[in-house]
Amino acid sequence: MKYKEEDHGPHCLECGEPIPYGRSDRKYCSDRCRNRYHNREHRKWQRRYARVIDILMQNHGILSRMLGMGVESVPKSELAQLGYNFDFVTSCRKVRHRLECRCFDICYCDTDSRIIRLTRERFPWDPDE
Ligand SMILES: [Zn+2]
Repeated sequence: MKYKEEDHGPHCLECGEPIPYGRSDRKYCSDRCRNRYHNREHRKWQRRYARVIDILMQNHGILSRMLGMGVESVPKSELAQLGYNFDFVTSCRKVRHRLECRCFDICYCDTDSRIIRLTRERFPWDPDE
């Protein structure tokens, strides 16, 4: 974005040009600039959403493999080595002194050094089996 020192008044968020007097939105010089700005922001967020989903899916895959091996308790260091990212879970809540975390349908308690009580729960909207 280029700003010109001598210009006062609002400048276009997309191209940096002064906004023509009388434009009602006062953020963009033209509809073209407004659309370009919004499209780019939209694409940026699409990439961000996709990245988070990738991380969650990788986490879910790791936890699924643990459950498949009959594991209910794993050192966090081991999970981290497998590529587990503890910064992304689908929910986390404190229950008494425990931190209960969920990655889609898999739940566990997060302690200092291990995750414990790894279980799979059905989604509340799925029918009973
Ligand atoms: Zn513009």
